[in-house]
Amino acid sequence: MKYVLVTGGVVSGLGKGVTASSIGVVLKACGLRVTSIKIDPYLNTDAGTMSPFEHGEVFVLDDGGEVDLDLGNYERFLDVTLTRDNNITTGKIYQSVLEKERKGDYLGKTVQVVPHVTDAIRNWIETVSVIPVDGKEGPADVCVIELGGTVGDIESMPFIEALRQLFFSVGQDNFCLIHVSLIPVLGVVGEQKTKPTQHSVRELRALGLTPHFLACRSAEPLLESTKLKLSQFCHVADGNILNIHDVPNIWHIPLLLRNQNAHDAILKHLNLRSVATPPELQEWTKRAETFDNLENSVRIAMVGKYVGLPDSYLSVVKALLHACIARSLKPSVDWIAASDLEDESSESTPEAHTAAWRTLREASCVLVPGGFGDRGVRGMLLAAKYARENNVPYLGICLGMQIAVIEFARSVLGLQRANSTEFDADTQNPVVIFMPEGSKTHMGSTMRLGSRRTLLQTPDCITAKLYHNSEYVDERHRHRYEVNPEVVGILEEAGLRFVGKDESGKRMEILENPSHPFYVGVQFHPEFKSRPGRPSALFLGLILAATGQLEAYLTKQQNGSL
Ligand code: GLN
Repeated sequence: MKYVLVTGGVVSGLGKGVTASSIGVVLKACGLRVTSIKIDPYLNTDAGTMSPFEHGEVFVLDDGGEVDLDLGNYERFLDVTLTRDNNITTGKIYQSVLEKERKGDYLGKTVQVVPHVTDAIRNWIETVSVIPVDGKEGPADVCVIELGGTVGDIESMPFIEALRQLFFSVGQDNFCLIHVSLIPVLGVVGEQKTKPTQHSVRELRALGLTPHFLACRSAEPLLESTKLKLSQFCHVADGNILNIHDVPNIWHIPLLLRNQNAHDAILKHLNLRSVATPPELQEWTKRAETFDNLENSVRIAMVGKYVGLPDSYLSVVKALLHACIARSLKPSVDWIAASDLEDESSESTPEAHTAAWRTLREASCVLVPGGFGDRGVRGMLLAAKYARENNVPYLGICLGMQIAVIEFARSVLGLQRANSTEFDADTQNPVVIFMPEGSKTHMGSTMRLGSRRTLLQTPDCITAKLYHNSEYVDERHRHRYEVNPEVVGILEEAGLRFVGKDESGKRMEILENPSHPFYVGVQFHPEFKSRPGRPSALFLGLILAATGQLEAYLTKQQNGSL
C-alpha cells in the first residue's frame, strides 16, 4: 500500500478535502486504484450528532455511517463507496482503546497516548486502507489520507505522531506527504507572502514530518520567484511546489494538478511510474469546461432550515449540479429560509417575508430537503401547498416527503391538526410517526440509517420510469419518523400514490401525486449517490419537469430512443 498524506497549515477552510480528492482523481486517471481515509481529530465518535449549522451536512454512507462531508467529496470525485471506518475520529480511537483496556487486553500495562493510542491509529489506517471501495477485489494501490484541522492543533497531535511512525515503518517509497498551505497577498505592493507557509512547515518538521510536496492555495498563480523562495525555505524541491490558484469551478483542480505534472512527481516519489499510464482526464476536462460555458439556468427554490450555510445541504446542491449539467443548464439555487414564508414573519420581518414569497413564485421548481426539529416546518408546509396547487414541480426529500403528507392531509383530507409526532407528540391526526428500527431512547446512531431497498410498486409512475424501469432502488436513509401506515389508505383514496415501499410493505418510501406534473416525495436521500456524469434520477426528473422537458424525456426513454 502506498500512502499519500494530506495535511493543512496556516488557516482552516483551504479546501484541503477538495485538494486531497483531486490528487486521488489524478492518480486514478493514471490507472491506479485509489481509496481514501479522512481523519477528524474531534472527540465526537461520528458526525451523527453534529449540527449542520456548525459543521455542514452530515454525509451518510451505504453502511449507515454518519460521516464528515469530505467523504462525500471522495465518493463523488473518485466514484467509490466508502465505509464508516474510512472516517477516523478521536472518539472512535479512544472508544476502541478503552474497550480493549476494559477487556484487560493491555495485560496490566499503563495505557498511554504513546504507544497505545498511536498504535490504535496506525492499525486502523492499515486495516481500513486495504478495504476495496471501488467494486473490485483486493486492496487499492494508493490510499489518500486527509488529516483534518490545521497542523499544530492540540487534538491532532496523536495522529501526527502515529503518521510519523507509519512513515518510518513503510519508508519513503511508500509514503508521500503533501502539505496544503496558503500564500496570501498583502498590501499595495501585492507581494505573495511565503512566511505563514514557512512557519507551518517548520511546525510540521518539529513534529517529525517533512513535507515532500507543498500545495499552495492562492488567488493568482504563483510567481516563479515565490516558488523558488518556498523551495529554499521549506526544504521542498521546486518541482514539488504545486499551486492551486482560484479556478472557476472545483472540477478544474485535478486538471490544474495534471498541468503541473503533479501526478508524475507523486508517482516518481512513490515508485509507481512503471505501473501507471498517462492521465486520462477527457471527461473531467469536458465537464469542467462545459460548466464554465453554460448559458441557460434554471431557478430552484430550496426551502429549508439551515439556509445560512450552504454546506448544510452540500450533497443536495451537488446533485442539482449533476442533474443540471446533464441538461446543459446552470443551477441557480434560491435559498429560502422556511420561517420567512410563515404568516408571523409578515408582521415581524415583513421585508424578508415579501422577498421569500417573491423568490418562491419566481422559481421554476421547489425542493424541500431533509431536516430535523420543528423550526420552519410551517413555512415548508406553505411551500409544499403552493407547489401542489400551482402545478410547480416539487421534490421533497425525507422531511420534505413528510411535509408533503402533512400538507395533503390538512388541505385535501381536511385534517387541520394532522402532524408528525416529531413536531406535536399529542397530535390527534398523526400522519407521520416514530417508526424506529433501533432504540427509542438513545439519540446517537438510532436512526434508520444507510442503504435500504425500495420496491417500486408499479412501472406506471414517473419515478419508476426515471429509474429506468427498475423494480427496486437502493438508496440511503437517515430518519426516525415515517408515514403512518394506518393513514396510507385514506391518503391514497384522496389521490396520493405511494409508488415505492420497503420490502415489508409497511414503510412508505416514495409518493407521487398523479394529478400534478411532478410532485414527488422520497423518504430516502437520493442526493448521496448522485455522481458527476451519473446524476440521480429524481433530481434529473425535477430539473426536466422545471424546464418542461419531462414528458418528452420519458416518452423517448420508454421508446428506447434515449
Ligand atoms: N426529522 C425527520 C425524521 O427524523 C426527517 C429526517 C430527515 O429529513 N433526514 O424522520
